[in-house]
This record gives sequence, C-alpha cells and structure tokens, in this order.
Amino acid sequence: MDKIQVGILGATGMVGQRFVQLLLNHPWFEICALAASERSTGTTYGEACHWVVSGDLPAVAKEMIVQECQPDLACRLVFSALPAKVAGPIEEEFAAAGYAVSSNARNHRFDPDVPLLVPEVNPDHLALIETQRRRRGWKGFIVTNPNCCAAPLVLALKPLWDRFGITTLNVVTMQALSGAGYPGVPSLDILDNVIPYIGGEEGKVETEPLKMLGRLEGEAVKEAEMTISAQCHRVATREGHLEAVSVKLGQEAGREDVVEALRDFRGPLQVLGLPSAPQHPIVVREENDRPQPRLDRDEGQGMSVVVGRVRKCPVLDYKFVLLGHNTIRGAAGAAVLNAELLKARGYLEELD
Ligand code: NAP
Repeated sequence: MDKIQVGILGATGMVGQRFVQLLLNHPWFEICALAASERSTGTTYGEACHWVVSGDLPAVAKEMIVQECQPDLACRLVFSALPAKVAGPIEEEFAAAGYAVSSNARNHRFDPDVPLLVPEVNPDHLALIETQRRRRGWKGFIVTNPNCCAAPLVLALKPLWDRFGITTLNVVTMQALSGAGYPGVPSLDILDNVIPYIGGEEGKVETEPLKMLGRLEGEAVKEAEMTISAQCHRVATREGHLEAVSVKLGQEAGREDVVEALRDFRGPLQVLGLPSAPQHPIVVREENDRPQPRLDRDEGQGMSVVVGRVRKCPVLDYKFVLLGHNTIRGAAGAAVLNAELLKARGYLEELD
C-alpha cells in the first residue's frame, strides 16, 4: 500500500515533536512536510527544533527544510499542533484548500459542525464532516481532539456513562510540565511548588466531555446533561496528567460493577483494529499507590488510560484516580488515531 503523505503544522513544538516520533514508522502515513513559524522557516528541522522527546531526533526529519504554514504542502492530510493564537484561521485555510486537518488546538472544538472526537467514545460524530463541508463550501474539513485532561477523562467516563449514567462529577487535576509546551513554565516558578491555576483549563475540562458524550441529533450534537466541576494544577512532573475524580452515578452500582465496566471497555471493533488503538483503552490497577506518572504513563504506548483506587465516595458515589499521557493520548497520539479512523471510514480517499 502506498503510504498517505502527511504534513505537521507546528512541527517544532512539544506536540509537533511527538507527531514526528509517532509518525516515523507509521504503517499508513508518511511525513512529507514539516511547517512552523517564520522563526523556523527555511532552516532544517534539526536547526529549528530543540528536541525534548525521548530518543534522538529522527535522521529523516533532521535534514527536512521547515516550511511555512501555507496550504501548498505536498500532502492531503495535516496534523495541527499550532498554538491557539494562530491555529484558527490557518486550519480554516487548509480545510478550504482541500486538506483534511486533524487538530490539537482548541479553536474549532466547539464549532457545531466540527467533530470533537475520541474514536472509542463518539466515532458517529464524524458525520458532522458532511454538514461542515456543505455549510462552509470546503473540499477539505477539520476534526479536533480534546484537551489533554479531557481526553483521558472522557475515556474513563464513557463506560460509566453508558452503563449507569452520570449526574455530577468533580475532578482535580495534577498536570505535567510538558502540557505547557516548550519552554513552558520557568523552573524557578515550578520547582518545590504546585501552581493552582492553568489559564482556560478548567473551562475545557468542564465542557468538552459534554460534547463528546453528547448525542448526534440531525446536524448537531446535543450535549450530555451532567454537571462537571474541575480544579486544575500544574505540578513538577514531565509527562502524564493525573486526575482525581469523584462521580455521582445515575443509578446504584456496586464497586465490582464499576470496576468491571471500566476494565471491560473496548470501544467499537473497527476502532480496536486501528494501528494506534490500544487493546485496552482503560487499564484498571488494584494497588493502593497506582497509577503514578513515572510508572504508568507509557501504558498501551501512551494511548491507554490507567485508572486506580476505585472506591466509595462519601460525598458522591465513587472516586478514583486516572492517568493519561498528555502529549500522546492527550495530543499527538489522539490526532493520529483520529486520522486513522478518517482513513478507515474513507474520508481521506475522497480528497484524492
Ligand atoms: P509549543 O511547544 O509552544 O509549539 C508551538 C508550535 O507552533 C511550534 O512549532 C511553533 O513554531 C509553532 N508556531 C508558533 N507560532 C506560529 C505562527 N505564528 N505560525 C506558525 N507556527 C507557529 O506548543 P505545544 O505544547 O506543542 O502545543 C501546540 C498545540 O497543541 C496548542 O494549541 C496546545 O494547546 C495544544 N495541546 C498541547 C498539549 C500538550 O500536552 N503540550 C496537549 C493538548 C493540546 P516555532 O518553533 O517556529 O516557533
């Protein structure tokens, strides 16, 4: 099979580097273009990029010339790791010019005709693409993946939502430094410290799961009815966002039922067969002291959510701790999985 040529917008940043790493030996996709800001354009990727992902900067990427984020890249699919301050119009230009855009940025997540997608959770929302193209007159389209805390959270919520319903949710996050991009939070601010504020984060965690768990009705998503309260903290870990979650369920359930629902969750069969899909989207651990970012973030190549400490909550019904790899399941890996679903459903062939 000829591989599909892909480009990465924002390729030099924290998430862009993850894309390079994940796409390097991908069975379906091949990187043909790396693009970033004016600062990097015209230099080699090796010169423009301060490589912070584990392992060496891949040789094939090192000598590639970084291009402008203009829709003249020699590919039909682009992954966007652009900052929100510029992502909106650039992604639209690409979609209008006929590219499929798989975006990490927040700009289009709540456009009513743009899927906010996690393949195991709401693959049916892909149907919004038809509405998007028709309304906007685009040949291409945009799909988005959720915020790096909302992504693992919604995966853990999905089986509980389907089986018991959820009425109320409280979540307290402990978010890794890589979530702030590079160079991110100054060392003197974060060493020996926890910062109880991440701009805009709590709103995303409180709203994005509602769209993803919502029902597609005609040409829009009717959001799930559930109240979410989030408190977000930056902590001095490198990668892996930890979240302490308490839920009130829609109906009574025993602890074993809750654990079984989480552990047995697989998502649709078609999604399970995609190259980046983990065999176990949720891994449940029974030890008292797991999950931990350093020990558990790479579970399922960083695509599994690890849940632990499932127990009764004296205020709501159940509480547990979950861990998701923020630059993989919460960013680049999520966008690659979305693109794999697009390919499996024939959306990329239509762009030929
Ligand atoms: P980052 O490390 O700051 O990287 C930003 C990238 O965008 C760099 O490649 C930069 O290129 C490029 N860029 C900046 N200004 C540009 C412009 N005007 N035109 C074109 N390119 C420009 O940020 P990041 O952490 O990778 O985040 C990227 C996006 O993913 C953001 O929207 C973020 O919210 C989202 N996200 C991040 C995470 C995470 O865990 N880090 C998780 C989920 C979602 P230069 O190197 O040339 O400046």
